[in-house]
Amino acid sequence: MELHAVADLPEIRPGDDLAALIADRADLAEGDVVTVASTVVSKAEGRAFDLADFPASPRAREIAGRLEELTGDEKDPRFAQAVLEESTELLMDAPFLLTETRFGHVCVNAGIDRSNVPDHDLLLLPTRPTESAERLRGGLLATGLEDVAVIVTDTCGRPFRHGQRGVALGWAGMPASRDWRGERDRDGRELGVTVQSVVDELASAANLVTGEGADGTPAVVVRDWSFGDLEGSDQLFREVETDFVRHALREWEYEP
Ligand code: GDP
Ligand code: MN
Ligand code: MN
Repeated sequence: MELHAVADLPEIRPGDDLAALIADRADLAEGDVVTVASTVVSKAEGRAFDLADFPASPRAREIAGRLEELTGDEKDPRFAQAVLEESTELLMDAPFLLTETRFGHVCVNAGIDRSNVPDHDLLLLPTRPTESAERLRGGLLATGLEDVAVIVTDTCGRPFRHGQRGVALGWAGMPASRDWRGERDRDGRELGVTVQSVVDELASAANLVTGEGADGTPAVVVRDWSFGDLEGSDQLFREVETDFVRHALREWEYEP
């Protein structure tokens, strides 16, 4: 398996045809998986905004005030407003905002970035990253290929661990995970629980290549990787009923 950076992509602007920009620079082959950082998907989809676009509601002001009080960091209530508007559930309001985004991904600040965004204050995540991945895939298939998958990624922290890594937000042309249940381990024991989150693993590998700073690239081609014969599934985000950590968080309150 090889990972290739797609070099020389320009600064992405609203309305850009990202699939064409990538296809022009990538020399894609059948079976490739193309990962695209959500940052540029958002830029192409016009998801850059200013704080002024989010007049703060009383709730946003209350949340920002509490955060400022507890952490000592200055919090703009309009930022809290943007996070609330992007989210369906506020899981933690301190010492940072942890929410479920409208498309089901749980992360800090609804994934809103304030870096790598020229001319604007905020870059929101794509509204429906799986639909973004499907559109990008459609654009790549239009170049004459038949078998290409796309993963829209973000760099994201995870609970229980320091540091950030690449995760998948949306995907198309491949299942999200590979189901090893019923397969045998080296001792012949049947695997009971292993469902491998393939799109996250590919997103993490690709994130090593994209980098985070000014001289990285938002698109990576994964070549000669194969899903194999196992069953696939498109479940990535846990259902609320069986998401027990979420239930615990709902009961928890931060005390400095
Ligand atoms: P995220 O992980 O999806 O939040 O994306 P990042 O902001 O970390 O960006 C991923 C990589 O793409 C970084 O190496 C950035 O330098 C690069 N990048 C971000 N925006 C652009 C852009 O508009 N054009 C190009 N060519 N690279 C970009
Ligand atoms: Mn991001
Ligand atoms: Mn990143």
